Amino acid sequence: MKANRFLIGLSVTLGLFAAASPATALTAIINARLVTMDANYRVLPKATILMEGERIAAIGDEARLNTPSPETLIDAQGGIVMPGLISLHNHISMIAFRGIGEYDVENLLFDVMFPLEKELLNRNLIHVAARHAALELALSGVTLVTDMYYHEDEVARAVKAVGIRGVLGETVIGFPVVDAPEPFGGLAYAEEFIKEFKGDPLIIPAVAPHAPYTVSPEMLRACRALSEKYDVPMVMHMAEFPTERQLITDEFNTISDDESIVGYLDRVGALHDGLLGAHVIELGSEDIALLKERGVGVGHNPKANIKGGQGLAPAFEMFTTGVDIGLGTDGPMSSNQMDTLNVMGYAARVARVKAGTSAVFTPRDLVEMATIGGARALDLEEDIGSIEVGKKADIVILDAKAPNMQPSYDAYATIAHQAYPGNVRTVIVNGQIVVADRLIEKVDLDAHQREWDAVMARVAEFRKTLAVEPKP
Ligand SMILES: [Zn+2]
Repeated sequence: MKANRFLIGLSVTLGLFAAASPATALTAIINARLVTMDANYRVLPKATILMEGERIAAIGDEARLNTPSPETLIDAQGGIVMPGLISLHNHISMIAFRGIGEYDVENLLFDVMFPLEKELLNRNLIHVAARHAALELALSGVTLVTDMYYHEDEVARAVKAVGIRGVLGETVIGFPVVDAPEPFGGLAYAEEFIKEFKGDPLIIPAVAPHAPYTVSPEMLRACRALSEKYDVPMVMHMAEFPTERQLITDEFNTISDDESIVGYLDRVGALHDGLLGAHVIELGSEDIALLKERGVGVGHNPKANIKGGQGLAPAFEMFTTGVDIGLGTDGPMSSNQMDTLNVMGYAARVARVKAGTSAVFTPRDLVEMATIGGARALDLEEDIGSIEVGKKADIVILDAKAPNMQPSYDAYATIAHQAYPGNVRTVIVNGQIVVADRLIEKVDLDAHQREWDAVMARVAEFRKTLAVEPKP
């Protein structure tokens, strides 16, 4: 369906935008219960938002805003209108393997993921699976996904086709993988990928050293140098397991017994303000202070961490200390569901179990982590993360009429603890409508399904050979 079915022939007076270029598309959202997430946390009960091209051009009270002639008019019907949700950690192409390895697996990474990847990964699977994941993400209101995987150029093309943003990290790891036969060959691949996509309106290319136990100190520094050379992010799993120090010792023998993972990474020169760490569970208060001092962002994935029995990150301490922390899910084999909406509730539950009190993470704190907090962790807060004039238009409209969205006395509580991904009605990214009334706008879904069916059939065949899977 086309977006212009929203056009309802609004009679207009040209005011604010009389000087707008006729070539620049104007889109308006009316009847918005607007959660801005700006510095004053303004919530406007009945607002209009005007977008000119990719940016937000005006926000205001309906009665006072002089509405120009928009090409597209979207009636939010009193629904919550909020900044697009940001996901800080995923491996979206692994959606092809979702649901495998759910039965008493000793080590998901080594017993299931690595064998699957070794046998099945190729450019086509990575591309088609990434497109499928991006469809699911868009429908759940995620407007930016942070990814770490292989052939990230394929991921980039898939994410762009659906129309959402990607901060996409090409993996650097110390053994041969699908797109790099030499150990650490991902570094050269990453540089080519960065050169190809730097400056793209939706894609921010990045370099992704896999983890401190699979990447040597020398290669961590090389990744940092690449990140700084091109001014792109570096993303990495970090302090994820209690056994991480032992794994680093076994592999590289470069960490001392009394050193924390964060302290080690700082000593070897890996911490810098372009770094986004995923998980960051095993750390103390000094480490948290160090992360803040170095400007390191944190992607908190409570839903995956508790599913994997990994432990509870000190997320509330990081948040209150002022570390730039946002939310992610980890890959579809670790978290299965990929929406950011429900991670908010999990973040609160996990932190409250850890603290032994419910006085941890207000609903507003949770929405902050899912939006502007995630933008800060990626150093993108100047452009996205809140609904403010001049910012890029990444906007989600929630359904006000669904039974589970009522009552709604406090918009933050409704978003953080009541809403489901199915309540996402409309999604706008970079000023473009990506989801309209729960329908994907930019992808031929029949053609996609044919390619995706073929991918799933191939995985299903190989799955039968895995000893860890239950037999029919
Ligand atoms: Zn991960």
